[in-house]
Amino acid sequence: MSYNCAEREQMYLKNPKCHWCGRIMRLYKDGEVPRFCSLPDDAATIDHIYPLHTPQRNWYKRMGRKSPVVLACNGCNNRRNNLPYGEFEKLIKSGNKQKYFPQIG
Ligand SMILES: [Zn+2]
Repeated sequence: MSYNCAEREQMYLKNPKCHWCGRIMRLYKDGEVPRFCSLPDDAATIDHIYPLHTPQRNWYKRMGRKSPVVLACNGCNNRRNNLPYGEFEKLIKSGNKQKYFPQIG
């Protein structure tokens, strides 16, 4: 079960700030980004709390349920990659935000 464009928009309307870095993101609707262009860094993306191939994520899949997500900018989503939620959170809280988000003042 994956999240669709309307669900992403709903989350965005509730809170347009990135879950991780707090910046205001931009909402791109499906098809707005040309096919062979990469998604901009500030695009709102669905970030799964449990990364792919983890037992928790597989459990949701088996149950046919949607696994919990947050809305994160594409930049953070890429930086997090497959890091567990808690580890990425620690990384961010452990001080030098500048180090992980060099583009943010
Ligand atoms: Zn971010």
